[in-house]
Amino acid sequence: MNVGIEIPAELPAAAAAYAAAGIKVFRVRRNKTPYANCPRCDKNSSLYVQHRPEACQCGVPTCHGFWAATTDPALIHRWWREEPGANIGAPCKLNGWAVIDVDPRNGGDRSLQALEQRAGVLPGTGMQLTGGGGLHLPYLSPGFDLPGEPFPGIDFKHNGYILLAPSVHASGGRYRWAGDGLFRQPSEPWPSALLPRKERPAVPAPRPARQRFPVYGNRPKGRPGGGRMWTVADLVQHVMDASTGNRNNAFFFAACRAHELSEQGLLDLIDTRAGLMSAAASVGLTESEARASFDSAATRPGDRGAA
Ligand SMILES: [Zn+2]
Ligand SMILES: [Zn+2]
Repeated sequence: MNVGIEIPAELPAAAAAYAAAGIKVFRVRRNKTPYANCPRCDKNSSLYVQHRPEACQCGVPTCHGFWAATTDPALIHRWWREEPGANIGAPCKLNGWAVIDVDPRNGGDRSLQALEQRAGVLPGTGMQLTGGGGLHLPYLSPGFDLPGEPFPGIDFKHNGYILLAPSVHASGGRYRWAGDGLFRQPSEPWPSALLPRKERPAVPAPRPARQRFPVYGNRPKGRPGGGRMWTVADLVQHVMDASTGNRNNAFFFAACRAHELSEQGLLDLIDTRAGLMSAAASVGLTESEARASFDSAATRPGDRGAA
């Protein structure tokens, strides 16, 4: 987890603070006036004048929508001098983010629980409270499009934008970062369990440096389908080798393989579980996180080869 940034309580200073941290922001009016480009900015208009969105000089606040988002301090200063009460928008994909947006008014909290039961506890990330009872869980963008509303009350925001603290929610509450209130750049990869099925990582190819068997020599009996067979030591090593941002995913991956191989009689589940739990502890996962993840791997649909 990276160092947190203190965000000023006033919107103009807060916008500048995000930009200084490298976050592209743009102003969003409180009344959410929809984006409309003036004729100079509308590519379909005969009056269009070619220019980059963030270099727009026309002065109409809604021109270019979030495409105008910028880290330019002078522009941000001008925008919020003109409209000191404007909320702070951050386009997700342009900032390299994908955000799980949970709206409890539409059942998002129940959906989130169901989702974690199915897919495992989501990797920890800096959480934003929306001021209206909702939650934002920002992750690194997986690099391709995600379904918009996969579950009731849950939205995967990627092509769109989110408001950032201390923006004012329609209900009057303010957005804020949970916990210590500091903003942290998302650093965890998008949870692989939430990827569209076709994009989920398969069994990774063994890295050449750790390949134990000569290519033309005697190879151990592989899994049906030609994947390599994992030993307990391999699975433990897989967790130990994971980068900080990926250790939840690595653990869950190893847990899935453990269940799969034990069903085929190729591993002892109790031994493997013990090995993985101690690996989890040594990379900093809590016991309850690891236990929940290991157990959910047993019932995970779709990642079990036979399905
Ligand atoms: Zn314009
Ligand atoms: Zn323009």
